[in-house]
Amino acid sequence: MPLVTHRGAVAGVAGAMAARGQSLFPHCANPRCSTGWMRLWRSRRVPSFEGRWACSPECMGELVASALRREMDGGDAVPAPYPHRVPMGLMLVDQGKITPVELHAALEGQRRTEEETGETIRLGEWLLRSGVLSEPALTRALSAQWNCPVFSLDPYRPAEVATAMPRFLSEAGGAVPVRAPGGQILYVAFSGGIDRSLSYALERITGLPVAAGIARDSEFRAAQEQFFATAAPPARYLEAASSWVLARTITKLIEAAKPVEARLVRIHDYYWLRLWRRGADQPGLPAADAVEDLLATIGSPGRARQNLK
Ligand SMILES: [Zn+2]
Repeated sequence: MPLVTHRGAVAGVAGAMAARGQSLFPHCANPRCSTGWMRLWRSRRVPSFEGRWACSPECMGELVASALRREMDGGDAVPAPYPHRVPMGLMLVDQGKITPVELHAALEGQRRTEEETGETIRLGEWLLRSGVLSEPALTRALSAQWNCPVFSLDPYRPAEVATAMPRFLSEAGGAVPVRAPGGQILYVAFSGGIDRSLSYALERITGLPVAAGIARDSEFRAAQEQFFATAAPPARYLEAASSWVLARTITKLIEAAKPVEARLVRIHDYYWLRLWRRGADQPGLPAADAVEDLLATIGSPGRARQNLK
């Protein structure tokens, strides 16, 4: 869905009016709107939320609350069926990369470490650390396991993708944006495994199809460092006590910032709201000063963080 610019939103409203052929005034997107024509006549054009216009803060509040309910109710469910991935260990044994004995030892070591330190280590990471598997071999195995390409991150130019995702999601999701050629598609590199929920959220926020791939761990870490050092859109963080508080906060933010567009998505236990302060001049990712982000959880953030990866 293309970003609706201010002008686009107005044209859309006018078009909708013409299509209905009766109402003289823009139509509030809140189905329970009770605003009379007199107030609509003095109407505002922004803010816009998910391409829809609401006539008042009250109606905007209803739109936000219903979007939040949609997200809580499985809005992050990835629609397309993805092939089931083969367990890493079995695949490596099958390919002759490790022996069944090495697999058994690694699984045992993984389990012991988790018991003793509470630290969860992926099997691939474990095999890499213990020298059983080389980094290129692990990268190839992950690429086969997730049925996705290996992306090279050397050289890496973070400036052109600086607004693709908040740093927080890059860190928590083990992902960095790679390139967005022509503003037509967004390449995203993951380390350790693809997070389909994050990938899908990126598609919904940026409006670009996302091509996900695996990157070598060392390249990934170097690229992520560069990504973190690049000027990013401002981001706020919120631990909301309840969904009601979150809906209210989002509505207030939208009403205060009067964005030309705003979108809400969920990635596991995180809610990501992006506001566009102005419309896009060109297709693709926005400029760093054109957008701002809110990242929020409902309830305990500690538990939420564990769930992301
Ligand atoms: Zn209304």
